[in-house]
Amino acid sequence: MTLAELYAHYKNPLNARQKQLIAEAFEFAKAAHAGQKRKTGEDYFEHSVETAAILAEIGMRSRTTAAALLHDVPEDTKFTLEDIRQKFGNETAELVDGITKLGKFKLRGDKKEVQLENLRKIFLAMAEDIRVVLIKLADRLHNMRTLHALPPEKQERIARETMEIYAPIANRLGIGEIKGELEDLAFKYLDPENYKLAKGLLDKEYKERKNDLEVAIEELREELKKNNIKVIEIHGRAKQTYRFFLKLKKHDMNVDQVYDVVAVRIVVPDIPDCYEALGIVHKKYRPLIGRIKDYISLPKPNGYRSIHTTVFGPKGKFLEIQIRTPRMHDEAEFGIAAHWIYSGPKTWRDYFLRRYTPEEIPEEELAWVKQLREWQKDLGTDNLEFVQGLKIDFFQNHIFAFTPKGDIIDLPEDATPIDFAYAVHTEIGNRMIGAKVDGKLVSLDSKIRNGQVVEILTSKDAKTPNQDWLRIAKTSNAKSKIRQQLRRAGITIGAI
Ligand code: MN
Repeated sequence: MTLAELYAHYKNPLNARQKQLIAEAFEFAKAAHAGQKRKTGEDYFEHSVETAAILAEIGMRSRTTAAALLHDVPEDTKFTLEDIRQKFGNETAELVDGITKLGKFKLRGDKKEVQLENLRKIFLAMAEDIRVVLIKLADRLHNMRTLHALPPEKQERIARETMEIYAPIANRLGIGEIKGELEDLAFKYLDPENYKLAKGLLDKEYKERKNDLEVAIEELREELKKNNIKVIEIHGRAKQTYRFFLKLKKHDMNVDQVYDVVAVRIVVPDIPDCYEALGIVHKKYRPLIGRIKDYISLPKPNGYRSIHTTVFGPKGKFLEIQIRTPRMHDEAEFGIAAHWIYSGPKTWRDYFLRRYTPEEIPEEELAWVKQLREWQKDLGTDNLEFVQGLKIDFFQNHIFAFTPKGDIIDLPEDATPIDFAYAVHTEIGNRMIGAKVDGKLVSLDSKIRNGQVVEILTSKDAKTPNQDWLRIAKTSNAKSKIRQQLRRAGITIGAI
């Protein structure tokens, strides 16, 4: 992709200064990755630029997309994070560093839903800045699009990680567009047979319904026009393969029971128009009782808003109609990123932690969306406070370190390798003789920082922890285990 082609992907218009930043990141990353190839045979840089393009399409601007262009530079080229800091400044460097840290995250083994939920939260909290999560999602989306080039074991692990961690996070952030594609791509690798089955049924169904859909679109367009409702857009949409499969399963694989295989989407200027349009739709086509869902007055927990209704469409066949405003449409596709389009981001942690039950969601919109608007009033977009508002402080006193295999260990601030060892396993702690952090030997009283990889060196012969460790360890977990083992070894614990 050329620079000019990348520019064409931006949803927001770019000014000269923004264009320049993008151009500089583009040239820098292109030169840094020169000569490198991906498994697909493409130039490595294509991955960086595709990642940036995905973000541009969901409404992200120059800073985030510049970081996306640079995201693999420190890990995969001779240039370091410091080089990026010098050339592009602190903010861009912090974004790139955040992506590098998140890159160490790996999902291994079968996890229960509770553990998965924790991993999702940790993933979000580790990122510290919401833009890092968005870049990571775009990075993963492009990696999923090119997953065919990897060996099967890797495909399986990456697809599972995508289904269990990345797609739910995209959903939590309301980015339906990315969520849907991630799910469909992961589904294809995780369950190829059912994927083929669902895709086949869906294509067949869509082909059969295509004509009905076109008739309905024309009839509704006509009807709305007659009633003086301005139609900004009206189109048909097919259901995503994975979502279709889940519904099929729920209905014993009976396609006739899935009412929303195809739907007509109507975009009208404002909320009163939505309700008026609903009345007009119901006058034209008889509604199915109990199938009217008003997600405008009661949005879904992820912020989704629209009115859905199922009607007896042309030839009396079931047809789902979705009615929304342009803003709701963007929010449904781009989620939290849409707020860069409409007002700019703000607090979102209540939202991703699902501290709302659906009943508690404020009537009009999520609280953070409101706060976001208020922020927008007195802040410019390049304001420092604005940037800081993007940071997550929920896990403020936590750090997340990794085992060499990519498992996450959640520790308090100032934790040491001793705390890490006992958090992994009591025996690892008891047999510890040393520690490496990011590949370098460190003393046992050194502090672990967020995102570091900690390797505990053990010996079969070591069985008893050193008494001094009681003084060094920060967590009560490590301290109590050290005491226990000392007692077991018959060592009297001195006054510490
Ligand atoms: Mn990447």
